[in-house]
Amino acid sequence: MAASNSLSLLRNFASVTALATIKSSRGIPTNFTPQTQTRGFHFRRTLFRMSAINNEEAAAQAAAADADSGAPTIFDKIIAKEIPSTIVYEDEKVLAFRDISPQAPVHVLVIPKFRDGLTQLGKAEARHEEILGHLLYAAKIVAEKEGILDGFRVVINSGPTACQSVYHLHLHVLGGRQMKWPPG
Ligand code: 5GP
Repeated sequence: MAASNSLSLLRNFASVTALATIKSSRGIPTNFTPQTQTRGFHFRRTLFRMSAINNEEAAAQAAAADADSGAPTIFDKIIAKEIPSTIVYEDEKVLAFRDISPQAPVHVLVIPKFRDGLTQLGKAEARHEEILGHLLYAAKIVAEKEGILDGFRVVINSGPTACQSVYHLHLHVLGGRQMKWPPG
């Protein structure tokens, strides 16, 4: 028993010494621990997030400035098939295609083919009731096609405070992973 304890102490000492040698031979300070590494990683991730959030907000402010100009958006080009997209569902009124920058394993955008003043949900009027209902039902069809009917989220960002970046009403259908609440 005593012999095996001594052997294990010796082994531990040998492995700590070996680790310190490896670290110093690679130019890593010997006080560098996995905890130091984790703290560094979290710090860099927080900085990255902060800069991404600022960019997102700046882009949203810039997009909002042009929102009601009536100018075509990138989604008009997608509807006209002038630029490619991966279409998941389409009927005479709506188009659903994969988001170029997915925030979940399933991330599909559902848009009305005819914008009709619906640059954002905040501009909806009584005459839009039918298309709004149709968009929501299309979101359910997309969720079914994507196999996420057991749990999915539908998001509409309306206006710069919500970080809307494309001024053609669209529903984000997100799923395929555990969602968290509250959203950012
Ligand atoms: P918003 O920020 O306005 O709620 O969402 C706009 C969404 O459109 C973003 O998630 C963005 O990734 C997506 N998007 C922007 N440009 C394109 C594009 O050219 N193709 C596709 N498929 N998605 C796009």
